[in-house]
Amino acid sequence: MLSTMMRTPLTLSHLLERAGRLFPTSEIVTRMPDRSLHRYTYADFYRRARALAEALQKAGMQPGDRVATLSWNTSAHLEAYFGIPVAGGVLHTLNLRLHPTDIAYIINHAEDRFLIVDDVLIKLYEAIKDHINIEKVIVVPLTGQPVPEGLTSYEDFLATATGDFSYPELPEDTAMGMCYTSGTTGKPKGVLYSHRSMVLHSLGSALPDALNLAQSDVLTPVVPMFHVMAWGLPFTGIMVGCTIAMPGPHLDAVNLLDLYESEQVTKTAGVPTIWMGVLQALQKEPTRWKLLPMEMVVGGAAAPEAMIRAYDTFNLKVVHAWGMTEMSPLGTVSRIKHNLADSDPDTLYALRACQGMPMPLVEVRAMNEHGEAPWDGHTMGELEVRGPWVAQSYFNLESERDKWSADGWFRTGDVVTISSEGFVKITDRTKDLIKSGGEWISSLDLENLLMGHPAVREAAVIAVTHPRWDERPLAAIVLKEGATVTTEELRSYLEPKVAKFWIPDAFVFVDEIPRTSTGKFLKMQLRDKFKDWHWE
Ligand code: ADP
Repeated sequence: MLSTMMRTPLTLSHLLERAGRLFPTSEIVTRMPDRSLHRYTYADFYRRARALAEALQKAGMQPGDRVATLSWNTSAHLEAYFGIPVAGGVLHTLNLRLHPTDIAYIINHAEDRFLIVDDVLIKLYEAIKDHINIEKVIVVPLTGQPVPEGLTSYEDFLATATGDFSYPELPEDTAMGMCYTSGTTGKPKGVLYSHRSMVLHSLGSALPDALNLAQSDVLTPVVPMFHVMAWGLPFTGIMVGCTIAMPGPHLDAVNLLDLYESEQVTKTAGVPTIWMGVLQALQKEPTRWKLLPMEMVVGGAAAPEAMIRAYDTFNLKVVHAWGMTEMSPLGTVSRIKHNLADSDPDTLYALRACQGMPMPLVEVRAMNEHGEAPWDGHTMGELEVRGPWVAQSYFNLESERDKWSADGWFRTGDVVTISSEGFVKITDRTKDLIKSGGEWISSLDLENLLMGHPAVREAAVIAVTHPRWDERPLAAIVLKEGATVTTEELRSYLEPKVAKFWIPDAFVFVDEIPRTSTGKFLKMQLRDKFKDWHWE
């Protein structure tokens, strides 16, 4: 029997309207390239996002046209986040840290028609312009410098709007945005999010046991808006009506801490590399910044337990989350369940260092050669997920169909255990697992333990071919400034913590661990570097 309920489409225009009507005085702050702070209100944002929507339509944007952005986290980018999709376009955020050849490949694959680019990134545009076919390039004048000839100033473009924009009626499954994976494990692949998936993702993300966002919060998304929609935070933030303070191009620790202090930030989100830097700055000058107790969501790569512990001493709470481009991106968040709240501190920290419990509407299972692994906290399997904000295919790419199981679950490529309480713990990516003498070794566990050693700043563990054991772990170690440690000391440090055969046979001291554009260890490069390693 059908219900008697209305079926209004879940589209972003509802979020934008709500923001404009209910929270006109909420503030949006951007750190500009010259470090000054630009401020305006939701009322301004609402007006300008709608002006952008109208201007795009006037410029000939058709439903489904891709509008690319090459921008930092700024208020203009936020306008694009809403203005493009509410006009029926597809917001395509480009990762400015990728190699120009890859950016051009992605633009061409997506068939982008318009491009909005920050003036501070014009050089990057110039490096790709001969390899792409963009009809109109709109430049956001962040520095006040004149816009290069032949290109349109964003302000002039907005001025073409009259203010009488009306939302086109969009079915909720209409594509609203697209992101390409950063290609850590192969060629970038495009994912197309729908209005519906993004609205549901925003509702789910705002929940207290997820990102815990309310209109009274001050939110700083450090995770770039060019990387998986800044984990959906621009949409979630605008939906709840909170103050949003954005770092612009200034992602270094001091600028971030200054922003947290001046704007009294309560919620922030970023990758572990960024939080490592912020932690070092805090440890160096513990009394310099007066911060409110703040929740710092960390994801994109595993958060070392030692980091979570260290932040607690500053009254800053690290919340570990896991996600993927294919998942909009949030999948799991680690919050302590009420029935576990009385556990001893070490157990609580171990739980917080897990990737966490699946969000409502997200289903998880771990699959191995025997079928679905039991939720026992130690049987490993590849994590598969299903839910309304999980992709069911890539954009224009048939070759990757095997990323989905026959019964429609998405294969994440992450190897996990799931505990009886439903906590997902990533042990590795399938490609990074180490198989020694027929037994699996988790490189992530080893890395996290090693990063708990007082002398170690960073550790990446990789599999290297071994004549007897097939593979053995090799640990690449970056020491903290001025610290020293011997291989023997690292071995004895690990001994009481892991099975004997897990202990790496080799420790190599390096200046830095190669990283991807989104801050993940580039293990491919490390494996390549050490592939001819001679075991003693
Ligand atoms: P790419 O696949 O190109 O690296 P994504 O940014 O979508 O692009 O990365 C998703 C992957 O990042 C996950 O499959 C997982 O391996 C890793 N990841 C994300 N969050 C975490 C986390 N909290 N802990 C460990 N790994 C994580």
